[in-house]
Amino acid sequence: MKFAYINNQPFEIQEGETILSFIRRYKGKDLVPTLCDAPNLDPFGACRVCSVDVALEENGKTKTMASCHMPVVEGQYIYPDSKAIKKLRKNIIELVLTDHPLDCLTCEVNGNCELQTVAAQVGIRDVRYPEGENHLNREKDFSHPYMTSDLSKCINCYRCVRACDEVQGEFVLSMAGRGFDAQIIKGNNQSFMESDCVSCGACAQACPTSAISDIFQSKSIGATDITRTICTYCGVGCNLEVSTSGGEILSIQAPYDAEVNQGHTCLKGRYAFSFYDHPDRLRSPMIKRNGEFEEVSWDEVYDYIAEKLTNYKRQYGPDSIAGISSSRCTNEENYLMQKFFRAVIGTNNIDGCARVCHSPTALGMQRTFGTGAATNSIDDLKDTNCIMVIGANPTDAHPVTGAKLRQFAMKQDNVTIVIDPRRTELARHADYHLALRPGTNVALLNMMMYYIISEGLADEEFIANRTKGYETYKEAILGVDLDKMESICGVEKSLVRKAAMAYASAPNAMSFHGLGVTEHSQGTFTVMQIADLAMLTGNIGRRGVGVNPLRGQNNVQGSADMGVQPHQGAGYLDITKPEINQRYNDFYGVDVPKEIGYKIPEMFDAALAGQLRAIWIIGEDVVQTDPNTQKVIKALQATDLVIVQELFMTETAKYADVILPGASFLEKSGTFTNGERRVQAVRQVVEPLEGTKPDGQIIVDIMNRMGYDQPDYTPEGMLEEISQIVPFFSGITWENLGINGKQWPVAKDGTDTKILHTEEFKIGKGVFAYFDFEESQEILNHGKDYPYILTTNRELEHYNCGAMTRRTANHQILSDDYLMINPKDASDNGINEGDFVCVESPRGKVDVKARITDEVKAGVLSTTFHFPDIMVNNITSDVHDSEAMCPEYKVVAVRIRKSKGKYKQLAEA
Ligand code: SF4
Repeated sequence: MKFAYINNQPFEIQEGETILSFIRRYKGKDLVPTLCDAPNLDPFGACRVCSVDVALEENGKTKTMASCHMPVVEGQYIYPDSKAIKKLRKNIIELVLTDHPLDCLTCEVNGNCELQTVAAQVGIRDVRYPEGENHLNREKDFSHPYMTSDLSKCINCYRCVRACDEVQGEFVLSMAGRGFDAQIIKGNNQSFMESDCVSCGACAQACPTSAISDIFQSKSIGATDITRTICTYCGVGCNLEVSTSGGEILSIQAPYDAEVNQGHTCLKGRYAFSFYDHPDRLRSPMIKRNGEFEEVSWDEVYDYIAEKLTNYKRQYGPDSIAGISSSRCTNEENYLMQKFFRAVIGTNNIDGCARVCHSPTALGMQRTFGTGAATNSIDDLKDTNCIMVIGANPTDAHPVTGAKLRQFAMKQDNVTIVIDPRRTELARHADYHLALRPGTNVALLNMMMYYIISEGLADEEFIANRTKGYETYKEAILGVDLDKMESICGVEKSLVRKAAMAYASAPNAMSFHGLGVTEHSQGTFTVMQIADLAMLTGNIGRRGVGVNPLRGQNNVQGSADMGVQPHQGAGYLDITKPEINQRYNDFYGVDVPKEIGYKIPEMFDAALAGQLRAIWIIGEDVVQTDPNTQKVIKALQATDLVIVQELFMTETAKYADVILPGASFLEKSGTFTNGERRVQAVRQVVEPLEGTKPDGQIIVDIMNRMGYDQPDYTPEGMLEEISQIVPFFSGITWENLGINGKQWPVAKDGTDTKILHTEEFKIGKGVFAYFDFEESQEILNHGKDYPYILTTNRELEHYNCGAMTRRTANHQILSDDYLMINPKDASDNGINEGDFVCVESPRGKVDVKARITDEVKAGVLSTTFHFPDIMVNNITSDVHDSEAMCPEYKVVAVRIRKSKGKYKQLAEA
């Protein structure tokens, strides 16, 4: 054991800790005040307030050191509160205050200002120095809808600059000037709005005063309650602390002790909450009569639904009814929705939005490994040497994980491979960017695997011990025609080889994939190839490796876990197997069906064929977000009863016969499961708006109304039921989730699992499988007449159909969809920046504004789909993944011309 001394008393030291953390471990937080130190930032040593005296012998000659960044050393004698040190600290703060407005009483952070606290701690009563030149008249910046600055209150601690660099990795803030002229600037000395700020708020949270803040009362002491919950916007699953007063939400901050996000969020999680009480919220159940929605009571709407569904079931059979559940909803609500369809209606016609995003991931990983979920955790980035990011733009779509990936990519010794048609933000930092033609992942990955095997980099031991099917697979891979693959995917062989070598020779390599993998006609096969690549190189079953899908919606993992799939019930159990069927029958007390139900596209086909009488859609705007909009609309019109449970009158809700007003994540409790299998507690922050109900309550009410008695709805009670039927939830209880949740599978004793497949795969041995590249039917059928390939993408500011984010100030930051077009294509078609481009596919036309950029190659276009006035899905196709039926959003054959915006105007009319 090694010891150092605090005021001559010995204490054991820990390897690698600083003097400050050593003192705080034994003496608490208050003995040594700090200003430039922050929990999620590296030690910096700028303010010197944390200075302590250090000697090499008891009461020996001392040296003053900034304790925050000095390592504690065996045998040191530390004097943290000597007279001299106290005087020094007081002097430092006094000097700071000579150039700080003394307007505490009217300052936003009064009572919660770190400078104010430290000034009181060190005993400042007045400032002895005469008033001199200062910076008290610096201009305030109110240019941004969320971020504000008043740099007259800046104390030059650099916390904002470091948060921007070390946490977000954006490098927008910096210190300009020297000495007295030193000041924080944004970008090239611009305003927040003009700069490249991504509005994550890390700087505002880091700032110890109100020099940088936000428009909310983030740092005020006005809150009466703080509730910890989980963000609703993406599968990262950031923890949020929501401050409220009198039932009103004041602000959101990020807790530093959150394992997922360590004090960080993106602008959606931190700032985009004002949708929850927006005037547009649906506040009453409604039934459409004579083409008009009429507000009705909950009793009336329940009776109406129960009677209609009972009649359809009796007259046309249970399979004439279908449901689409929501990945925005909790596990408990998704579990209930599938239970309703299976146990009350008697059909497996239940599906969810995973169908249009990661269904190929679940299926592909199940086929190769036996489990359709991330094998590792994001924290494993600390122990990996190489990342391969394929078909994902995490800095926009999964921003907090994206920031961590970017931090990884910027470090010199790390290797980053990005496989993406677009030069994404991460691609800019990558060592290898393989900008392939959309739809050719299979060709490129076969090339990578060819090089790994032919160059002798396959992990023969792992393959022999843990896998099967290798010999056949190897023979097929070595038969790949490299020249042909090169011309198909448009990436030079030599570059593919280098990337393959880098991945295979890294001691630890992790892969991350997104919708650029799954939303293709060969999506499931590509997922299986990524899994093959991990097995081929032994990158599975330990820390710092694995296959890690970046899940889109906040609870898309959970909705599939809960059985929102037509072929697997709760817990991914195969509903066609008699023993599983018996298990469900016993558990639900009724006979549940054994036949696989409709997937979402099959629901629409059934509707158009006159075989679907009723559909109940929760929190999913299929008209705006599913492909081939006009077909979706016709399918809804062909269905007798369309029930839509929503927050807003979405494009889909407009086609409803019945509207049920649900509650947002801020108004209910339950659990979400993030992309790393982490089940986390969502805690109710405010009461549901008057007239609305939590979605789980609505489902239970309708179950009871239809004669399937359910106990009162409580998230705790539902979680208890889930733990009895979903094997990997068996050890989860509401109480033991704690603040950071648990990663499934969770054993009965509550032990959770950070890494899957450490000893063996769920199916015993991992299965190698080879797939030939096949050109998409979209290109084969239409490529000649529609020579450009349109692919879709997301923007940081908006989430999916945008129903929530468009009703926040995010709309002021980004208010339109746009089309990325290469300068050559723009010039060939006479298109200038900002022009409307008529994008035409075999399904229709839309007008989108041009953004000319070399982020896309010539021949490739990319657009977002957040705004209903564009309705990009009018032109996407219903070609889908051959296995999981995920739509091929990423390959749309189109032609383009300059337009006057006629189709946009028509859409808006
Ligand atoms: Fe929410 Fe995702 Fe942003 Fe985190 S990264 S705050 S989970 S949207």
